[in-house]
Amino acid sequence: MLSIYNTLARKKEPFHPLIKGHVSLYTCGPTVYNFAHIGNLRTYVFEDILKRVLQYNELKVKHVMNITDVGHLTSDADEGEDKMEKGAAREGKTAWNIAKFYTAAFKKDLKLLNILPADKMPRATDHIKEQIALIKILEKKSFAYRTSDGIYFDTGKLTDYGKLAAQNFEDKKAGARVEVNKEKHAPWDFALWKFSPKGAKRQMEWKSPWGVGFPGWHIECSAMSRAYLGQPFDIHCGGIDHIAIHHTNEIAQSEVAYDTPLARVWMHGEFVVIGEQEKMAKSAGNFLTLNALVKKSFSPLAYRYLLLGTHYRSPLAFSFEALQGAQNALDAIYDDVRGFEKPRIGCAEFEEKFKTAVNDDLNIPKALSVMWNLMKSAYPSHAKAQSLLKFDTVLGLGLARVLGHPLRIPARVHALAQAREKARAARDWAGSDSLRIQIKKMGYHIEDAPKGYKIKKTHS
Ligand code: AMP
Ligand code: ZN
Repeated sequence: MLSIYNTLARKKEPFHPLIKGHVSLYTCGPTVYNFAHIGNLRTYVFEDILKRVLQYNELKVKHVMNITDVGHLTSDADEGEDKMEKGAAREGKTAWNIAKFYTAAFKKDLKLLNILPADKMPRATDHIKEQIALIKILEKKSFAYRTSDGIYFDTGKLTDYGKLAAQNFEDKKAGARVEVNKEKHAPWDFALWKFSPKGAKRQMEWKSPWGVGFPGWHIECSAMSRAYLGQPFDIHCGGIDHIAIHHTNEIAQSEVAYDTPLARVWMHGEFVVIGEQEKMAKSAGNFLTLNALVKKSFSPLAYRYLLLGTHYRSPLAFSFEALQGAQNALDAIYDDVRGFEKPRIGCAEFEEKFKTAVNDDLNIPKALSVMWNLMKSAYPSHAKAQSLLKFDTVLGLGLARVLGHPLRIPARVHALAQAREKARAARDWAGSDSLRIQIKKMGYHIEDAPKGYKIKKTHS
């Protein structure tokens, strides 16, 4: 039986979908004003693993991930610069082109990481009408009020505001800092609609019953999840930073508007940290992209493998040493399975252990150790092959592409490698280096062995 940790219940619970055999899943997508960093990508890999585990349990998943292509502000307090317009100014493009470019880049990253595509990826700018309709309901129910810069949600009218993060707003009130926006009833009231600044024309703005402007940054998820999945739906995911503000506010506005829970289960992935627990953030500018790892000759799936080694509810400290370890482990798996026979009947005892692990709140580190124990076991390779391919429907390491396909090194690569050996023997370092680069361009690399060298395929 599958059990998952529900942030809202603060415990692990058995998972039963609302409709037998079907799961509705909403995952908050990227704000497309820059490349995704490897921290963001960890969250998407965690959600991909969740989806694959649901499918492993023979559940049919309907997955919606939004694309935020409109004006989030750079601070959580609805103040600061607009992220999309900031990106546009940085690159001398329109906000619309910025959105288009980074949406394509994002989809490319997902593909490189073997992340299964969502069934729907709706854009916020295509759903302005639905967002306005939702704000109108909130207004009718007297949960919205006007200030000089926008329409805000009145959190003070809700008795259970903040239940997701179990925040105590009375304590918070006593310690609250000086308010930025004095017109707000409470510091944590949030914008539903922001007005375009007077006299300034924004690139992205729309007419609304309250004035020209743009939606606040939580309303799109409430509107689009309802449009595509209904309410309530089964599982809502994101990174842990979304618990206290974004998801808290989605819950507040959706539940007030429709008098029913937004989602039944809430799941949150922990962060990737660098060095001394420093948070990686797009806005802080300290981020690493997947492309930066590829440029250092790591394969995207080595990063995926690295992520699989830490449970999604534990922080992951990124280092290049750890990534190199993941690359070596992935290469070793590939080298092994290349020589496997065609799959036949699998190894039931390992398959059982694997399923128990993944069904225990996605214990993928444990599942990986089951996989390694199987590899090291005495089972014939055709049995291992069958179970490994099954495991890989969850792990997503691309094993089907290499399993049973012995490496055939082109004669040209052999010739270049021999020429490099000769150059090295003659201490012609420049020559040997240029041959190494040529070999690399053909997708191979040389590892020096005690006797001569070994040619290896560079995995991508
Ligand atoms: P954003 O594009 O900033 O809205 O973030 C996209 C997703 O990445 C959200 O689900 C965030 O919670 C998540 N996220 C942001 N920073 C990190 C990080 N350092 N590690 C893991 N996930 C993150
Ligand atoms: Zn969201």
